[in-house]
Amino acid sequence: MTHSSTTSKPIGTGVLARHQAELDAGRFLIQRCGACQRAVYFPRVLCPHCGAEEPALVAPAGTGAVYAVTTVRRKPEAGGDYNVSIVELDEGVRLMSRVEGMPPADVRIGLRVRARVVVPPGGSGIVVFDAITGDAA
Ligand SMILES: [Zn+2]
Repeated sequence: MTHSSTTSKPIGTGVLARHQAELDAGRFLIQRCGACQRAVYFPRVLCPHCGAEEPALVAPAGTGAVYAVTTVRRKPEAGGDYNVSIVELDEGVRLMSRVEGMPPADVRIGLRVRARVVVPPGGSGIVVFDAITGDAA
């Protein structure tokens, strides 16, 4: 039986790499701690609530509400103004993203939104949000 002294596993890359690989495949996952049942995002090696190791990656409902919003001013020739929003998912975790499909200035706190994964050709998948139209709120 041989023993290797180079078995150091890069802590921290595992769950992040898996999370990004899922995004690149068009799937948005968050973590749900099996010990305390709380949602975790961005993915971490240890549950920030109770310290349990590597909370499981699970699919969120994908719905949430705008928690904070900023319109970043940009010259029209540079692409125009764009929206930066912090969205609180219904699971209770927040992430910084943007709301697409509407004028940046029309994005309001409390707006109900749904997550969508965008994968640019050859790029890394990211999560953006669309307003939920109708009376879903
Ligand atoms: Zn926990």
